[in-house]
Amino acid sequence: MSMIYLDHAATTQMTEEVERAMEPYLREKFGNASTEYSYGVDAGRAVEHCRAVIAETLEAKPEEIYFTSGGSESDNWAVKGVAGAYKKQGTHIITSKIEHHAVLNSCEYLERLGYSVTYLDVDEDGMVSAEQLARAIRPDTTLISVMYGNNEVGTIEPIARIGQIAREHGILFHTDAVQAYAQVPISTRALPIDLLSASAHKFYGPKGVGFLYIREGVKMPSFIHGGGQERGKRAGTENVPGIVGMGKAAEAAHRGMRVYKQRETMLRNYLMEKVKREIPDTRINGHRYHRLPGNVSFSFRGVDGASLLILLEEDGICASGGSACNTGASRVSYVIEALGVPEDYAAGTVRMTLGRESTREEVDAAVESLKRNVRALRC
Ligand SMILES: *Cc1c(COP(=O)(O)O)cnc(C)c1O
Repeated sequence: MSMIYLDHAATTQMTEEVERAMEPYLREKFGNASTEYSYGVDAGRAVEHCRAVIAETLEAKPEEIYFTSGGSESDNWAVKGVAGAYKKQGTHIITSKIEHHAVLNSCEYLERLGYSVTYLDVDEDGMVSAEQLARAIRPDTTLISVMYGNNEVGTIEPIARIGQIAREHGILFHTDAVQAYAQVPISTRALPIDLLSASAHKFYGPKGVGFLYIREGVKMPSFIHGGGQERGKRAGTENVPGIVGMGKAAEAAHRGMRVYKQRETMLRNYLMEKVKREIPDTRINGHRYHRLPGNVSFSFRGVDGASLLILLEEDGICASGGSACNTGASRVSYVIEALGVPEDYAAGTVRMTLGRESTREEVDAAVESLKRNVRALRC
């Protein structure tokens, strides 16, 4: 039985093109990117090329891109870095209740240090309200951190509006774009975003590498102290193969974005509609239109989600209960809770996230399996 992988929000499989691009930097061109001889110069050039490629995808400057070990590090750096650097101006941060734990736990850490944090509610579609955000602003607010697209329910937040409000008040705006970058077009020229996190393994690149976009002029302290890498802001010998892989993955994703996005959106709508039609008492979580192309979240009434996932796996289908970091915990996810999904539905939540290689046949097989197993679990 072949596996049907419907968990692209957890991670994606690196493409062959990415692997080929990385290969020379694993052995042949192994030099340290910070050294002067040719192996090192080759590696250093490759790193700077990738910085330029990624900057271009965001309409940013290469000097505004800082390589990190992934989404979690980028989120930690953004939140803790701005909080620390702007402490004199204030110690209040605004975020939402449905952020990734990398943001939420960074905020909780700051609360223990004496900062205060407002966690904004979301509506039943998972949307942050701009009006509520504006009301939460205080004279001592220094940072607003709201994710671009939610990993569990797929909702895309009103980023332009949030950024505009932040800018009007002279507050910095960070967005965790780990799910959205390379899925939807994002321009730092068009959008008032000051900091943006992304992670390569969510867009067919390698694991353990990502970046933080930091707009020119933002006062940002070093996150890892040591050598002078990343213009003195993030020490440590560069992960050259990882960065090269991420650059290639970013380039490929943006080259094919229109096609991938349209295909995934169509397949996603097909999956949503088919389940809604064929399985009674089902809710679809997240916003109907403002959502990530490949993300679907279902809640089935009167079903235990964890049991459903096991049955799906027996049919060769990889899906997830919410975010990858929460599986195992059988309690209802905090995101589903924040959306106010009714209790008899909330426990039966399953996320299916499509990718570039997903097919209609796979979706049909997934719906058949869902239908059979939901029925079995309900009686
Ligand atoms: C996956 C994910 C992260 C964490 O990224 P890593 O590179 O795995 O550390 C952060 N935020 C969101 C929204 C994610 O989906």
